[in-house]
Amino acid sequence: MVSKELPSVSPRTKTNGKPVFTDTMDYVLQKKLRVWCSSPDATWKLGQIQSVSGDDVEILLVNGEVLTLSPDRLLPANPDILDGVDNLIHLSYLNEPSVLYDLQSRYSRDLIYTKAGPVLVAVNPLKEVALYGKDFISQYRKKLNDDPHVYAIADLAFNEMRRDGVNQSIIISGESGAGKTETAKIAMQYLATLGDARGMESEVLQSNAILEALGNAKTSRNDNSSRFGKLTEIHFSETGKLSGAKIQTFEGGSKSNRGEDALDIIQISKEDQMKLFSMLAAVLWLGNISFSVIDNENHVEIVSNEGLATAAKLLGCSAPQLMNALTTRKIQAGKDNIIQKLTLTQAIDARDALAKSIYAHLFDWVVEQINHSLGTGREHTWRSISILDIYGFESFIKNGFEQFCINYANERLQQHFNRHLFKLEQEEYLEDGIDWANVEFVDNADCLTLFEKKPLGLLSLLDEESTFPKATDFSFANKLKQHLRGNSAFRGEQEGAFKICHYAGEVTYDTTGFLEKNRDPLNSELIQLLSSCKSELPKYFASVMVADSQNKSTLSWHSAFDSQKQSVVTKFKAQLFKLMQQLENTTPHFIRCIQPNSKQRPMLFEHDLVSHQLKCCGVLEVVRISRAGYPTRMTHQQFAERYGCLLLRSIASQDPLSISVAVLQQFNIPPEMYQVGYTKLFLRTGQVAALENAKNRM
Ligand code: ATP
Ligand code: MG
Repeated sequence: MVSKELPSVSPRTKTNGKPVFTDTMDYVLQKKLRVWCSSPDATWKLGQIQSVSGDDVEILLVNGEVLTLSPDRLLPANPDILDGVDNLIHLSYLNEPSVLYDLQSRYSRDLIYTKAGPVLVAVNPLKEVALYGKDFISQYRKKLNDDPHVYAIADLAFNEMRRDGVNQSIIISGESGAGKTETAKIAMQYLATLGDARGMESEVLQSNAILEALGNAKTSRNDNSSRFGKLTEIHFSETGKLSGAKIQTFEGGSKSNRGEDALDIIQISKEDQMKLFSMLAAVLWLGNISFSVIDNENHVEIVSNEGLATAAKLLGCSAPQLMNALTTRKIQAGKDNIIQKLTLTQAIDARDALAKSIYAHLFDWVVEQINHSLGTGREHTWRSISILDIYGFESFIKNGFEQFCINYANERLQQHFNRHLFKLEQEEYLEDGIDWANVEFVDNADCLTLFEKKPLGLLSLLDEESTFPKATDFSFANKLKQHLRGNSAFRGEQEGAFKICHYAGEVTYDTTGFLEKNRDPLNSELIQLLSSCKSELPKYFASVMVADSQNKSTLSWHSAFDSQKQSVVTKFKAQLFKLMQQLENTTPHFIRCIQPNSKQRPMLFEHDLVSHQLKCCGVLEVVRISRAGYPTRMTHQQFAERYGCLLLRSIASQDPLSISVAVLQQFNIPPEMYQVGYTKLFLRTGQVAALENAKNRM
């Protein structure tokens, strides 16, 4: 946890017996210490300062090369005694190259896990590593191994659940391919082994495989997917035995490729399996339907008769019914209904919307079946540990609607994280009886307001604009500029793009496609088609869609949007709030997964890629927060032993606290820079430097 193991700027950080001080470059220059040199290709090189004259610093690199640079191209490097520390909080100098170097040096030794304060950073090994299995599980269970590990996080969650009687959550985020799903499985394996009562371990793990396998049937153009996470709840009885599990997804599927016998293992009947496979086949056949333009108004007819006939058969409707639904639309004109032919783009959109919607509902249906099978534990359920596998913050050269939604969700999670971290700090301060009121924490409230404010926030404005048929992405961008200029997290609009200042950095969003993607694409023809099908599942899906749209009044959070259907961001926000509510009642544990390279090769560590992800998941920020407040913590005893020798006058009382206070007074350390706790002294960053300096001069 936020560690009683601090101090981070501590006398422990020694080179050759001499203490190293905090972050002033002056000191590093003066003492000719190790430094990181920034080079034009954005990499960092380690070197030792040789000489300093004016603004020219001569540095000897590890490879023997000598560089002359100005100090602003340098960052302090940590003394080599800190190479490969297992918690970044112990680094004397917290900067990007130091963090990268630490992770890389561990990674090269297959130490893929590192702590960043209370957060576990997991770098994907992209190969098998000997870190898992029964022996490791038992080591962590018996506390014989204190290397950072997913098992350690799962163990902590399990113990806190039992100790406090509070539900727990393990929140795993990272970009695609970073190892979230593997990490979730590793955590589940640990928990399932601990509490295994009836061989449920394999069922819980197999359910994952099914959901992953289903992801393969995802339509090729699923750009619009709002899937951003999966929550697996593992239930335990009061005696710590596994009693069941429940899975929730936030739409859509994943992209991996396993899971054959899984359906049998989790007891989905052969009949239900057939229903599932025929719907998957229908989705694929729908994808085979193509259109050709038949007149100069761009109207279309269907080309692939085989696709049409087979998809219709699988859905249980007639080929003409399906054809009409995909190529025409009924429009109300006065009392009459007019049949309007669709254009090529409209027809393609209708086809894709139908395929996506069947797929999404199928996915939910499978989840229901799995939950039914997993929920039948014999043990009575008491508490749970939820494992959340969720897309992390994304920032690309071009960012669209998907990044907008994902990053919004991550802002909410970040807020949750900050509050939690603050609580941990607060607990330690309270325990030691110090006043924590003036501890500063970064706050992303401005950014959340920017998204959620009603009626003039990003989400409301997007929904409002989506209801105007004449609106364009450009008019949307203009509207943002007009209304959001006052918010500090909004950084202007230019040529249809706007910038948001997120906790993890600035992101520029291109508004192209925002309005279209936000509108619910499924028109009533398609819902009607599904409800008239003879097969059971399409009918069922149609009934769910109708129920969903009738439910909207309870979830609706702004008045301007009065279409029958909820917009995509409105649904997204409702799901996110539901998720946050669930998480709010748990003690969270965080794991950030990192993809080490873009080639999916083991042992390769690409600095710019990793550094980008570290920024996205706010790793430096986490360490910074963990060190904010009073990062240096020493017991009265430690402090007195280390600095008592600096006292110029003898003092009456020789107890450690009196000695400590006398030292602080002698050095004129301002009262706002430290706090005296029952057992420890808490000091702000940099305060021990003066003391260390004095000691060094002795
Ligand atoms: P997506 O967002 O696309 O679902 P993901 O973050 O869930 O991606 P995973 O599927 O968990 O990524 O991992 C990608 C691949 O990386 C795995 O198939 C596996 O080969 C490898 N991998 C991840 N973690 C580990 C690990 N701890 N040990 C060995 N291999 C791993
Ligand atoms: Mg995954």
